[in-house]
Amino acid sequence: MDIDAVTIFPDYFAPLQLSLIGKAQENGILDIAIHDLREFTDDNHHSVDDTPYGGGAGMVMKAEVWGEALDPLMTPNSDLIILTPAGRIFDQRMAEELANSSHLIFACGRYEGIDARVGEYYSQESFAEQGIKVREVSIGNYVLGGGEVAALVMIEAITRLLPGVIGNPDSLVEESHVEDGFLEYPNYTKPQTWRGMAVPEILLSGNHAAIAKWRSHIAATRAGG
Ligand code: SAM
Repeated sequence: MDIDAVTIFPDYFAPLQLSLIGKAQENGILDIAIHDLREFTDDNHHSVDDTPYGGGAGMVMKAEVWGEALDPLMTPNSDLIILTPAGRIFDQRMAEELANSSHLIFACGRYEGIDARVGEYYSQESFAEQGIKVREVSIGNYVLGGGEVAALVMIEAITRLLPGVIGNPDSLVEESHVEDGFLEYPNYTKPQTWRGMAVPEILLSGNHAAIAKWRSHIAATRAGG
């Protein structure tokens, strides 16, 4: 999978060199490129924002600069994700859907966000005909300072679903949100007693059917079933 992210703070993406995502890049499963939006400006101040039409507080990110940055990334079958608190809420279903994409492009806003025409422009028929999809996505009902953290959240949730990223693919089979409303059972490891607290007896029984039944009962209780 190819991933591009456009931002005015490329350093925010340093964690992508770590852990499973770092390894997946070394193994060629993932190719991630971070682009500095300011490199696509044409003025001495490298300005990416301007005052909003209609008035109001704050600054809006300029469509021209975003267009220059995004045009070269818009290859056929790309998914352009515009991060905004006003977008559709990201969840495990969307992560699964996006894990089937061959190319994700994250547009990370700052200030009051990105000029609305950017999303409209790349949603036009001529792009749709090339399999290019535009989505406005929010990672939750709160407002962040910028889209970088949201892109990191999405990249981690999506890429761990790709074959070869997680060491043991069985880890993905029985985990929270694998189905709507499913929450995983609690997990324990050694020692058997810690600070006077014992592991549930059933887990020591060796009776796999009984353990599976207990786990699904606990999982259902957690999910409110
Ligand atoms: N004025 C915007 C509004 O009220 O909807 C908020 C802009 S926010 C301060 C700046 C940028 O942070 C947004 O353009 C977006 O890229 C990102 N952002 C903030 N909250 C987000 C969220 N919940 N999900 C995704 N991106 C978010």
